[in-house]
Amino acid sequence: MRKELLNSLIKNSCEKLPAESCGFLLGNIQSRCYEVLSFIPVPNISKQSQTHFTMDPAVSIPILTNATHSILGIYHSHPTAAAEPSSLDTSTLWHTFPLYGIISLQNADRPHMQFYEIKKAAPISFNKLSFESD
Ligand SMILES: [Zn+2]
Repeated sequence: MRKELLNSLIKNSCEKLPAESCGFLLGNIQSRCYEVLSFIPVPNISKQSQTHFTMDPAVSIPILTNATHSILGIYHSHPTAAAEPSSLDTSTLWHTFPLYGIISLQNADRPHMQFYEIKKAAPISFNKLSFESD
């Protein structure tokens, strides 16, 4: 990831404070080597936007269904926490994408970004329910 791109991503996230920023990371992947070439910010519509993020579907769905670019993953910021996945992050539904970027703005002098691969551990289980229809 180029330094200018990282800096503009951090700058964009700072502009969203005190809310968490969020968006998509685009680029190339070759044998688990990721090359982030650009990012697309998406409005965070969470009602608790200082500690949570919910991507605005009106913006994210057209990005998700645009086949002309390849989405490597998503990013979001932690305004007051380290660049480590929270329990919310590890239960994310976004792990269908390989790359998960977290920008920590906890230390205003030294914002930094960390990337993760989050793998869903447990298989989804379900129970059969009985029902009556008459
Ligand atoms: Zn998080």
